[in-house]
Amino acid sequence: MADVQQWQPTALCPGCDIVLISVCSLRSDHLGAYGDDRKLTPTIDKIAKESVRFKRAYAGGNFTLGSLSTMLTGNYGSTTGVLNWGRGLPQQFRTLPEVLGLYGYRTGGFSVDAATGFRPDYGLDNGFQRMAIIDPPRDTPDGRHRSEPMGSGGATATPLAEWMETVPPDRPLFAMLHTRSAHFPFVVSTEGMNEDTTGVRKALWEEGAGARDSNRAMPGKAGGQMRPGLVASGELAIQNTVRRAGQKGVTVWNQTYAESVQRMDKDIEVALNAIKKRGRKTVLVLIGDHGETLDDNNELLHGAGFFESVARVPLLISVPGVNPTVTDALVSQVDLLPTLASIVGVTPPTGIDGTSLVPLLNRSASEVRSTALLEGDPSWTGEGELPGAVISPPWTLLRQTFPCTPGEHHERPPPPPGAPLGEPLMYTCLFNLEQDPKQAKNLAKTHPDVVTRLSRRWEAFRSARKGRTVPRDLRLDPAMIEMLQRTGYDFRSEPQ
Ligand SMILES: [Zn+2]
Repeated sequence: MADVQQWQPTALCPGCDIVLISVCSLRSDHLGAYGDDRKLTPTIDKIAKESVRFKRAYAGGNFTLGSLSTMLTGNYGSTTGVLNWGRGLPQQFRTLPEVLGLYGYRTGGFSVDAATGFRPDYGLDNGFQRMAIIDPPRDTPDGRHRSEPMGSGGATATPLAEWMETVPPDRPLFAMLHTRSAHFPFVVSTEGMNEDTTGVRKALWEEGAGARDSNRAMPGKAGGQMRPGLVASGELAIQNTVRRAGQKGVTVWNQTYAESVQRMDKDIEVALNAIKKRGRKTVLVLIGDHGETLDDNNELLHGAGFFESVARVPLLISVPGVNPTVTDALVSQVDLLPTLASIVGVTPPTGIDGTSLVPLLNRSASEVRSTALLEGDPSWTGEGELPGAVISPPWTLLRQTFPCTPGEHHERPPPPPGAPLGEPLMYTCLFNLEQDPKQAKNLAKTHPDVVTRLSRRWEAFRSARKGRTVPRDLRLDPAMIEMLQRTGYDFRSEPQ
């Protein structure tokens, strides 16, 4: 391999395989490894036993495209320009697979055909020598109503496992799986539907009916449901069903989410078996792209708010030779690229926003950053204030279109039907996570000094990144745009 660069031999795991598993909508409080006692995720819990477990890892955005862009580039949305569903990742940003490819890695990315963002339309295929976007399998919420049998689960990960077998053992590989098995609308069968008096299970099953005809599969909804005008009430019909059913409805909603998490664990099992079968030293990362709301803070779904349920994600990093431990250091998805590059002895791109977590892995430091950001939201128009969050323990500052606390409402009434919508109103929320982990008390009015300090930090970062990127023209075809619109995005970009 004279044509490729050689990795640093002094690295933690030079030239090791890397498998990165990103789980859509995964909350850490549903994992045994994070203290849940329902045993929903035996495979993930097994991985956790051999991993460094991060208790304070934050997403880079509240929607899939934003989060995956931060993971793959080591840069926040203000740097790459990926701040809503209308922007793709510009070619100028080196991605993790691209960097690894320079060192002789074989690189493959795997997901299902849905509004994931992890697909060539958005430029997230940059650097992947192979990207396979499969028809949503029957065991996923995107493959509901398909006629074929459900199988034993884990079908999303099968192409990844098959590809890993084709990579010669003398070549390192980077494989990325993005699974949507735990994504809304959670249910994949009619089981228990008739016994559910709240109607929530039935509504979830029927969500998206008619949205896509092919083989009667129905795509799962995406995020960004609160954008005025997307739906008349500001909520999806399914959310109204849950609200009408009261606490019972929320309970069913939460049960179906837990079931989907349990099914998703099968995907991880398939990936883990593939790693074992290959038998090469492997760095394994499991991360949530963002969380999910289960009526915490009065919100259902993700893509509007930046509460902890969505912003904080599970993160496990397993490195051969590195002792398992738990850390509460603040880390961000932007740190993944420099961390993985450093672990395998590869030089990351210069000037990125992320920082290597290796000092936490080898315990030479107890913290690596004081602030983490989440930037953009799926239906942000690009005008007016940028939605997002500044996380700086014990504080978290949220700027979002969703009310900070139940009952809080702006005074501006919604426009009459047919009238121009105008820019969405922004709420500014400040919470002290140490004193108020559930984020029930908005301190923005009583602590304006903290709001100003954190806002300035964010603005300084944004102005330093200004002009770094030229927004990328999307390569979306009209069918993709239609799918996005039908799956919950207020999507305004025109096809090229
Ligand atoms: Zn996602």
